[in-house]
Amino acid sequence: MKLLLSGRALTAAAVALAALVTGGSAAGAAPAPAPDQAAAAPDISIANVKAHLAQLQSIATANGGNRAHGRAGYQASLNYVQAKLDAAGFTTRVQQFTASGRTGYNLIADWPGGDANQVVMAGSHLDSVTSGPGINDNGSGSSAVLETALAVARSGYHPAKHLRFAWWGAEELGLVGSRYYVNSLGSADRAKISGYLNFDMIGSPNPGYFVYDDDPAIEQTFKNYFAGIGVSTEIETEGDGRSDHAPFKNSGVPVGGLFSGADYRKTSAQAAKWGGTAGQPFDRCYHSSCDTTANINDTALDRNSDAVAYAVWQLSQ
Ligand SMILES: [Zn+2]
Repeated sequence: MKLLLSGRALTAAAVALAALVTGGSAAGAAPAPAPDQAAAAPDISIANVKAHLAQLQSIATANGGNRAHGRAGYQASLNYVQAKLDAAGFTTRVQQFTASGRTGYNLIADWPGGDANQVVMAGSHLDSVTSGPGINDNGSGSSAVLETALAVARSGYHPAKHLRFAWWGAEELGLVGSRYYVNSLGSADRAKISGYLNFDMIGSPNPGYFVYDDDPAIEQTFKNYFAGIGVSTEIETEGDGRSDHAPFKNSGVPVGGLFSGADYRKTSAQAAKWGGTAGQPFDRCYHSSCDTTANINDTALDRNSDAVAYAVWQLSQ
C-alpha cells in the first residue's frame, strides 16, 4: 500500500533534508547547525504509540498470527517501521543475516548529524515468537522507539551526539540479530557507541517499573525521569542477559534500558507501590497467543515511552 505522508511528516522530512544540505561538506556549503543546548524531550503521544501497536497486530493477524523470524509477519513489520522512518528523513538500512535456516533482518536508522564519534543508540527487537503476535513482547518497545525517532524528526532536534535507532531480528532465537550487528562493527566503530539503550517489554499488563543497572550514568538518567513523575523503580533482574543489550555490554559498550516484567510474579510489596495484582505474572500472556493489543497497560506504556524519549534527549546533548 502506498504510504500517505502527513503534513507534519512532510515538514519533518523537509527539515531533515535541509539539515543534510546545510551539513554537507561541499565547498561553500553553510556550516552544520549548532547542536541544541538543553533541549527538552517532547511528550511522546501514547495514541501514536498505540497506533503502531495496532498496525503490528494487524500485520500478525494477516500473516498467520505472528511476526516471527523468517516469517511474512516479520518482513511486514520491518517494512512498516522502515517506511515511517524513511518518510521522516532518517537514513535507513537493512542488515541481513541467517538464523535457523531462515533469513533475518535488522533495521538500522541514522538521524543525520551529530558527532559521529559519539553515537547514542536506542533499540528493540521487532520479532515475535511463533506462538503469538508479540504485542507487549516486543511491539511495545519497537513502537516506543519508533515514535521517539519520529519525535526527533518532528522536532527538528539537532543533538550534539549522533543518534541511531535499531530494530533487531531473531531476538527470540537468542539475540541473533543484535549479536550479528555488534560483531559486524569493527572495534573502532564499537568504541564510537557511547551508549546503547534497550527496550524489551515496556507495556506489561500487570506492570513493574524496572531499570537496568548496567551503566551508572544511563541508569541514573532513567531513575531521574521516574523520580520526576513520582514513580518508584526497582533494579531489573528478571531479564539479565536475556535481551539485545547483552551483545553490546559484552563488547564494552555502556548499556541501559527499561522493562515492565514478563513471566515472574508481582510480589505484594510491588503491588503496594505500583498497583496491579500480587501473585500474578507481570505478563500472563508472555510468549502466548494472547499477547495482543489487549495485553497492554496504557499507563506503563505511556510512562515508559516518555522515559525512552527523555533518555534519548538527555544522553545525546
Ligand atoms: Zn522480548
